Amino acid sequence: MPQPTASRVADVRVTPILITDPPLLNLQGVHQPLTPRTVVEVRTASGHVGLGETYGDTEYLTAIEAVAARLEGTDTARPADLRTIVDQVCDSAATLGSAADVPASGLRGKRDLGKLKASVFAAFETAYLDAWARVLGVPVHALLGGRVRDRVDYSAYLFYKWAGHPGAEPDAWGAALDPDGVVEQARALIDRNGFRSIKLKGGVFAPDAEIAAIRALHRAFPGLPLRLDPNSAWSAETGVYVARELAGVLEYLEDPTAGIDAMAEVHAATGMPLATNMCVTGFDEVPEAFAKRAVQVVLSDHHYWGGLRATLDLAALCRTHGVAVSMHSNTHLGISLAAMTHVAAVVPDLHHACDTHRPWQDEDVITRPHTFHGGAVEVSDAPGLGVELDRDRLADLHRRWADSDVRDRDDAAAMRAVDPDWHAPRLPRW
Ligand SMILES: [Mg+2]
Repeated sequence: MPQPTASRVADVRVTPILITDPPLLNLQGVHQPLTPRTVVEVRTASGHVGLGETYGDTEYLTAIEAVAARLEGTDTARPADLRTIVDQVCDSAATLGSAADVPASGLRGKRDLGKLKASVFAAFETAYLDAWARVLGVPVHALLGGRVRDRVDYSAYLFYKWAGHPGAEPDAWGAALDPDGVVEQARALIDRNGFRSIKLKGGVFAPDAEIAAIRALHRAFPGLPLRLDPNSAWSAETGVYVARELAGVLEYLEDPTAGIDAMAEVHAATGMPLATNMCVTGFDEVPEAFAKRAVQVVLSDHHYWGGLRATLDLAALCRTHGVAVSMHSNTHLGISLAAMTHVAAVVPDLHHACDTHRPWQDEDVITRPHTFHGGAVEVSDAPGLGVELDRDRLADLHRRWADSDVRDRDDAAAMRAVDPDWHAPRLPRW
């Protein structure tokens, strides 16, 4: 048995990094060439190190650094103490400055203090669970109740994209700006990773162009579940139109329109299953959305729902109401993919492949980046999350951060490099 003090926190390290990101297009603009992430390391008295990964934007980094300074002596086996500290730090306007009062970003739903707390807690909770599991010599999924599957399915996440960033050489993926380009991209992602579900990020072109892309995918990959996510770019009326055009073709439509009432209107008129990572992104939004039948699939995301155990709470809530659950993704590396895979392995009724951006990232901070076989990641039974930090790589990516002035993700600003008048469009765009 480990010593009672073995799981106590001896040291916490927070490392902001910048990672390369291809020119993936969305409603707001385009992914920047470099995007921030934060890596959290929690070392226990026993010398075990737990890892967490989350957003690197200033609002998160500021809060994470303030929390990290107060964690020494807390117990990784008692995350309740962590929650108290996160709440205290996030409630302190003096510590956070303007971070608690940030404008809505548009792509991940509401932004408020509760969601900031949930996000900051999640980064450390993952590291605490990883550390505690390593102390005990068990995988993280065992601490979450035990895995019910050996592999977790992920989807091919397609994007409209430019051949390269403005002024840079084309990347290996090339351009995807029409149905043929989208099908070619899907083929490349599937050839490399074996994905058996396909999602297209929409909201970039007019609805008929995106309908044509989905139809082209349906012809090229008959039988594969297809999804389209325009990030609420459409009115309810346009959402109804697209849902009718793609009836029998889409597995589900993701956030066709903004807000619970408009989503409910689209579903009531068409019967199309609707998924969301925008109109339901916190527990307080669940009752109204479920009562109005606005969503049929909630896309969980431990990064902002409040961690791995909160993700299981969400899954149980969805199960109770007959709503499906799957997983949303933002740009991320292998620590996050490991955490996503451990929690997805525990959710009993996960019937849709989870989203991941990971194939778009050429870099990682772990020694053995994951591979996808048949579109799935194998669930690790190694202690903790089952991944190890590549400290040289982490140092390189931190040096890049220190040498750069990029501190926040801003897809609209990246688009202004090409179109100086660009602003993220008012909704509905179509
Ligand atoms: Mg989405």
